[in-house]
Amino acid sequence: MDRRSLIKNAGIAGVLAAGVAPAVHAQAAIRWRLASSFPKSLDTIFGAADVFAAKVKAMSGGKFEISTHAGGELMPAFGVVDGVQNGTVEVAHTAPYYFFGKDECFALGCAIPFGLNSRQMTAWMYEGNGLKLMREFYAKYNMISFPGGNTGAQMGGWFRKEIKSVADIKGLKFRIGGFGGKVLAPLGAVPQNIPGGEIYQALEKGTIDAAEWVGPYDDQKLGFNKVAPFYYYPGWWEGGPQLDFFINQKAYDALSAENKAIVEAAAAFAHTEMQAKYDARNPAALKQLVGAGTKLRPFPNDVMAAAFKSAMSIYEELNTKNESWKKIYADYSKFRADQNLWFRFTEATFDRFMQSQKL
Ligand code: CA
Repeated sequence: MDRRSLIKNAGIAGVLAAGVAPAVHAQAAIRWRLASSFPKSLDTIFGAADVFAAKVKAMSGGKFEISTHAGGELMPAFGVVDGVQNGTVEVAHTAPYYFFGKDECFALGCAIPFGLNSRQMTAWMYEGNGLKLMREFYAKYNMISFPGGNTGAQMGGWFRKEIKSVADIKGLKFRIGGFGGKVLAPLGAVPQNIPGGEIYQALEKGTIDAAEWVGPYDDQKLGFNKVAPFYYYPGWWEGGPQLDFFINQKAYDALSAENKAIVEAAAAFAHTEMQAKYDARNPAALKQLVGAGTKLRPFPNDVMAAAFKSAMSIYEELNTKNESWKKIYADYSKFRADQNLWFRFTEATFDRFMQSQKL
């Protein structure tokens, strides 16, 4: 074994034994790049990438470094799956449903309208068949997935005009994430897929009539309240959207068992931390928005009912068209039925009681 490969293979102990200058200590042995789909200004959803990278660095004693890059910095916000697939970057941090145009199954790893909530999604991933089934699917794209955060149930978004019934959906140019647009299109909406960093301008200019992003904390940062007065809820197309870290399979396979464990633990930490941030920060932002004149509105029942019907018929149709969808959705929908059977008892009853008390 020559000196170079000895150093490469033996790690720090070997390096020191070989008498190399200790300066080597300070250098990361592995350097990866992470391309996010999100703007840096969002310390919640972009922030999870920084949390992940910081944990990987700390747990590896500085030997494994990941630089994080906002949407558009290395590649377009919606180009990150291609970036990981072809190895331009080792990691992407994104909302998988952005890529449902490649295959509808991407949405099942993130959120589908009237799908799982945040708790249920994490349960499906870690304890159900979710992670296993989605990884089987993502393998086609040369990548492995790790849950990388959840926003919790989202708001329904910002509307320039009030929505009084399902008739008001007709002709509505609506920026909506992932699969929600597919469900609203049969109701007459004109869905738009626009990255987070570009929504404000489109809404301000009136290129679109409405836009949804996430919830009060992020939405306030992006300033949507300044350009649309009505704030609708709930975001029924995103009851618990999961973000993912997508890692290039070859880059992942090249890691030591120790570094693979570090990646898994760091991702799980970032996954939990994002939901905590949203839950902790949304209430104050909501109060500020309402205090500044935002008008909160629930979606009318007929809009919810028509959207539910549309969603279920699209899923049925996909069962006949997309083999992978059929396989994953069968497991997902069984899990969803059981989760709702369970949550309706103690979770929902407890929440409803507490929310009606004077605290
Ligand atoms: Ca959204």
